[in-house]
Amino acid sequence: MTVEACQRWLAEAQQVVGFSGAGISTASGIPDFRSPGGVWSTNRTVTYQEFVASEDDRIEYWRQKVAIWPEMCDAKPNAGHLAFKQLDVAGKFLGMITQNIDGLFQKVGLADEKIIELHGTTVEVVCLTCGERSSMDAACKRVEAGDLAPKCEACMGLLKPATVSFGQAMPMDEMDRARDLCYRADVMIAVGSSLVVQPAASFPLIAKQNGARLIIINRDETPFDSYADFVSHGEISEVLPELL
Ligand code: NAD
Repeated sequence: MTVEACQRWLAEAQQVVGFSGAGISTASGIPDFRSPGGVWSTNRTVTYQEFVASEDDRIEYWRQKVAIWPEMCDAKPNAGHLAFKQLDVAGKFLGMITQNIDGLFQKVGLADEKIIELHGTTVEVVCLTCGERSSMDAACKRVEAGDLAPKCEACMGLLKPATVSFGQAMPMDEMDRARDLCYRADVMIAVGSSLVVQPAASFPLIAKQNGARLIIINRDETPFDSYADFVSHGEISEVLPELL
């Protein structure tokens, strides 16, 4: 389909839903997982089970988080985030289903209830025993001061960034809300995701199967390109504003 057709769908749409992955934030200076230089080429993955079982793995996990925190913390939204905010201002945006953990949709001004964080957030940490949440900033300062795998000050449980790690259960409420948005969407825009991390990657397809037009913008090919109504392998921060 042509860019013009895509622009027309978006102009006529009433209920647009977004789906995003790490690629929307590379233009804000946060590396993705799978591109060259991405997180996976430089870091060992620590699974949830390893984090819970081993002090050494907790120390490694926290080392990685502290290393990436300054750029996450200082990152600013880019034209891709802004485009979704503009759809919201136009009154046609149901919400953002995001795999991002960087808090940039909050920073661009989308309301909390319009952001579904499938993989949690790195802005907060959570105690795995009592569930108390506190700021990542404070936790990173403790690690930097020599508390290499910090524990909850209230109950001494393990503190972990409030993200969903490999091997950890997906949040049920967020999964239900995301599915509901996919049923209601008339256009689904999936950006910056390799669409290989399941179950999150199934949402664009659920929307398509329920009648939405599917737009995919991702630098690399995805397994769902052949199902989409429009595919661009360009830069999100250039293509998305053009489509709007
Ligand atoms: P991914 O790394 O698997 O895929 C990112 C995709 O974005 C790639 O296919 C790449 O081609 C594309 N891309 C990168 N920059 C782009 C740009 N400027 N324009 C267009 N396309 C671009 O990411 P994923 O699908 O989100 O899955 C990996 C997991 O990584 C997720 O679970 C997510 O929670 C986590 N993660 C999040 C962040 C973040 O919040 N910023 C960063 C790294 C990893």
